[in-house]
Amino acid sequence: MDLIPFNRPYMTGAEFSFIDDAKKRNMLAGDGWFTKECHRWIESEAGARTALLTHSCTAALEMAALLIDIQPGDEIIMPSYTFVSTANAFVLRGGVPVFVDIRSDTLNIDELQIESAITNRTKAIVPVHYAGVACEMSAILAVASKHAVKVVEDAAQGVMAYYKGMPLGSVGDFGAFSFHETKNVISGEGGALLVNDPEYSLKAEIIREKGTDRSRFFRGEVDKYTWQSVGSSFLPGEIIAAFLLAQLQSAVKITEMRREIWSRYNMLAESLESDGLIRRPIVPVGCEHNAHIFYVLLEKGVDRSKVLSFMKQRGVHALFHYVPLHSSPAGQHFGRAHGQLLNTDQLSERIIRLPLWIGLGEDDQIRVVDTLKRAIESAKCE
Ligand SMILES: *Cc1c(COP(=O)(O)O)cnc(C)c1O
Repeated sequence: MDLIPFNRPYMTGAEFSFIDDAKKRNMLAGDGWFTKECHRWIESEAGARTALLTHSCTAALEMAALLIDIQPGDEIIMPSYTFVSTANAFVLRGGVPVFVDIRSDTLNIDELQIESAITNRTKAIVPVHYAGVACEMSAILAVASKHAVKVVEDAAQGVMAYYKGMPLGSVGDFGAFSFHETKNVISGEGGALLVNDPEYSLKAEIIREKGTDRSRFFRGEVDKYTWQSVGSSFLPGEIIAAFLLAQLQSAVKITEMRREIWSRYNMLAESLESDGLIRRPIVPVGCEHNAHIFYVLLEKGVDRSKVLSFMKQRGVHALFHYVPLHSSPAGQHFGRAHGQLLNTDQLSERIIRLPLWIGLGEDDQIRVVDTLKRAIESAKCE
């Protein structure tokens, strides 16, 4: 019996010829031709005012924390149901994550609970577009502008997804993309910062180039480059950018292929939902998702670890995540929960993500859903 892995990185076929081309251009450090092409792609397709490739989404979030000048004690509002980097990037600067509960339909931050979490130390709101389904950005932007705080979208999972027609990552003041191999569009490790407020473009370039104005020097705008501010090395080399450009150029096709697989799961899992075994993902009107994750929520009280190990024994590798940040050791030390996070606590224990990668066939998907069904029935019997 073949193993169905959780993820298998997709290659378009153009990656290695692009890398070869980067070598022929004799420039392998960052910000060469391929990086510029990637920037141009993100600016035109994702609507960013300025796009800057980074080593990771984590690095892009760290840049955002530097850009908005997070000081020790500043508060940043975010969900607890997210990857550690959402919080860690701000904690590195002494920021305090304030964890707000999630909505039960999308598992995104509950926009209606944000305003009551705002204090005079609040600097930013960080919505995370879980599974490539947009947060309720109109409400979030309204609260942010009312209280004069910034919005940093953690759009790690949001490449090629839209909110009311707007590409995710370009809706807030800043957006952060991930091109990690587990995401939809990949370069192994990789990311981008989307700077949507032109006031921050130059500052972002400087922070990314070790605190220097080297980018302006390369453009011939200054006759030497000097140390301007605090910064670090956030830019990837051209080999990564060449790989990424091949992927970006196929991003529409990649998204289409993933959506086809996602929709088939959605169809196959319908009867499990009507039998009361699971709940399928909910995508609100106005959100165009990118099929980053297909998950199911088990009913309360079903032993998830039994379900997962049953599936694994039968060669189907399904996963769960996240351990909520407010209940993790570092989250408790550095952050605080805003009230009770009931949805976060309950839903994070009921979620299962199914294998989703380009090349996963219909037979495989039938087997995955059938195995899931038998796993739940067996876990319920015990
Ligand atoms: C993947 C992910 C990150 C981190 O991305 P890297 O590129 O690995 O740094 C951050 N936030 C969320 C929500 C993610 O899914």
